Amino acid sequence: MTDTLVSVDIRKLVEACAAAISAHADELTTLDQAIGDADHDYNMKRGFDALLAEADALAAKPLPDALKAAGTKLVMTVGGASGPLFGTFLMALGKELPADADRAAFAAAVGKAVDAVAARGKSERGQKTMLDVLYQVRDALAAGKSAAEIVAIADQAAEATIPLKAIRGRASFLGDRSIGHMDPGSRSSALLVRAVAETLGA
Ligand code: ADP
Ligand code: MG
Repeated sequence: MTDTLVSVDIRKLVEACAAAISAHADELTTLDQAIGDADHDYNMKRGFDALLAEADALAAKPLPDALKAAGTKLVMTVGGASGPLFGTFLMALGKELPADADRAAFAAAVGKAVDAVAARGKSERGQKTMLDVLYQVRDALAAGKSAAEIVAIADQAAEATIPLKAIRGRASFLGDRSIGHMDPGSRSSALLVRAVAETLGA
């Protein structure tokens, strides 16, 4: 990652995230079919299509304002649990991020944003949700890991949800039958982490 986020290309970020979700559409649908209601890709696509449609307006804003606007859009546009949760993440990140954020400020803001997701979802790590990836990413950022290491950590964290029993969200209705499947929101989180890391690192 570059030392400062001031010059981030917001349009490229939105496009990279939308492309990452779209390239894994079938996989995300299949994951949510196994332990949910098969709409996770639909929800994510709907959210990122809405952000793509506003990419010019988002790109015209300073990064913190763009994050807040993007988060608000996801909350308003996406019906499933994932929209309000990813939306909360972006809104909180935008609120916490100083305009001239360096790497340390970015790591601290991500930490606050992950806590905001946990508060909104009344959830914590270990419950087979996106938080299992987001907290690992928070920790990796705080530890000063490289972009490539963070991408690998996020992928592993998503894999590590497979043996867990879901305690929150729709998958929790399945109880023990949720064991043995990767959490869809964890997978999409890892995909988004890769898209962001590759865009910022490029
Ligand atoms: P829905 O569950 O409403 O169908 P999605 O399928 O789009 O919404 O998203 C499901 C994902 O949302 C799950 O895989 C999980 O990662 C995440 N999720 C659901 N509930 C919570 C929660 N309370 N806290 C954190 N993440 C959650
Ligand atoms: Mg679903």
